[in-house]
Amino acid sequence: MSAAYFLSLPVQLYLILILKNTENSVFSELKKLLTAKPGRVVLVTHENPDGDAIGSCIGLGEVLKNIGHQVNIIVPNDYPEFLHWFSSKVEIAVYRNNAEKAQKILAESDILFCLDFNEPKRTRNLEDKIVQFSGTKVLIDHHPHPSQFCNISVSEPEYSSTCELVFDVVNKTELTEFMNREAAEALFTGIMTDTGSFSHNILRANLFKTVARLIEWGINTEKIHEAVYHNFSVSRMKLLGNSLSQKMKVFPEYRSAVIWISQKELEEFNFQPGDAEGFVNYPLSINNIVFSALFMEKKDYTKASFRSKGNFPANSFSKEHFSGGGHLNAAGGETKLSLNQAVEKFEELLNEYKEQLLETII
Ligand code: 5GP
Ligand code: MN
Repeated sequence: MSAAYFLSLPVQLYLILILKNTENSVFSELKKLLTAKPGRVVLVTHENPDGDAIGSCIGLGEVLKNIGHQVNIIVPNDYPEFLHWFSSKVEIAVYRNNAEKAQKILAESDILFCLDFNEPKRTRNLEDKIVQFSGTKVLIDHHPHPSQFCNISVSEPEYSSTCELVFDVVNKTELTEFMNREAAEALFTGIMTDTGSFSHNILRANLFKTVARLIEWGINTEKIHEAVYHNFSVSRMKLLGNSLSQKMKVFPEYRSAVIWISQKELEEFNFQPGDAEGFVNYPLSINNIVFSALFMEKKDYTKASFRSKGNFPANSFSKEHFSGGGHLNAAGGETKLSLNQAVEKFEELLNEYKEQLLETII
């Protein structure tokens, strides 16, 4: 079926074709919940929030605020400086910095939105609070294999980003009139970052159709790109240079590469949250590399990030060996192994995956 065919369909019919995992009754229920009476709504996202996590919270948060709800966003920990420029005035509380305040917000809220994660443990220290939340819980997410922890779930793994999905949910629940420029700007940001600035995860015309509609709210996409991607501190740029020149090992025989960053380097380069964002993608720019890993030494564990090309499943690799998960081509995980042990384990595993790596089709 051609893209032109989809583009010619009326909005409602088109949405049925794309929001295919979610029954119509779910949207009616959600609409009723959100329009019955103004209430207190809290939006929560995953640990180490990225552009899609923050973008979807702000985007939906703005819509809910415009409906008349009192809106709060809670994130588990600090988020990067390059996501601190949004025009939205919806407040973002950081649980790790002020647990008391976040707990009060949660206790006083009627509705909890869980955005851009598929199981409560992805919020780390907020996990229990989410499980125990006594009001109505709503999931909107694009990660595969969600656990059932919400009263209302919109889980659509074919979406590039939770932001793309939020926009369709807003349309499907007939709340488009409550969109504004602040929401459009935030949703655009998540689509941009989760697709690596429109370089991957582009499976359907819906992504560009969504972007085209968001631009109608008068957002400046060039300025957003500039704010997110051209915002390196000097030390972050030097950390990247150091990582690529000193701490990257390439295995052409396995079409793979790994980068590892120690606490010592994080200190040396004055590491700030988000400073290593995107580093894991760089090895994929090397000719014939289809699998890349980044290991970062944390205080009591080692954080892993995986990126792949084509049909090599970064998420099942991470799930099986590093207690993680994510998408086919972008996944994360963690291990109790030391940084060096984690890198060694990764190198050993490559041999096990040799055939699959060599047969990976882009
Ligand atoms: P990143 O490498 O940017 O931390 O994560 C890439 C993708 O994997 C994101 O979609 C993220 O939600 C997911 N992810 C990251 N860490 C974990 C993890 O520890 N567990 C699971 N299940 N998914 C993760
Ligand atoms: Mn996402």
